[in-house]
Amino acid sequence: MPSDCIFCRIVAGEIPAAKLYEDESVLAFRDIHPAAPTHALVIPKAHIATFNDVSEGEAALLGRMVRAAAAVARQEGLGAGYRLVGNCGRSAGQEVLHIHLHLLGGRDFGWPPG
Ligand code: AMP
Repeated sequence: MPSDCIFCRIVAGEIPAAKLYEDESVLAFRDIHPAAPTHALVIPKAHIATFNDVSEGEAALLGRMVRAAAAVARQEGLGAGYRLVGNCGRSAGQEVLHIHLHLLGGRDFGWPPG
C-alpha cells in the first residue's frame, strides 16, 4: 500500500469516507465533490494505479467492482439508470492513481461526455 495514496489511506481507515458498500476486496464511498445527486467511487482495496495495470489475475476484481456499483445503485434508488465512468490517464482526467469507477446517478446525462 503506497502511503501517499489517498484511496489506500481510506481503505486503511486513516482518512474518513462516507462508505456505501464494503466487502473483502471492494469499497464504495461518496465522492467529496459530487457531480450528481449520487456520486460514489468504487475502488479495489488493493492498490492498482491505472486500468492499464490490471493483471490477468486481477480481472475478476473488475467484475466485483461493477457488481458493487450495481448494488450501490440499487441502494441509492437509481432504477432510472446511472453512469459508470473510469478515467485512465492524464488526458481522461485521472487525478487519483488508484483505479476507481465513478458511479453517477440521480439526474440525466448527456452523450458524448465532456
Ligand atoms: P479522477 O479524476 O477520476 O481520478 O477522480 C478522483 C475523484 O476522487 C474526484 O472526483 C475527487 O472528488 C475524489 N476524491 C478525492 N479525494 C477524495 C476523498 N478523500 N474522499 C472522497 N472522494 C475523493
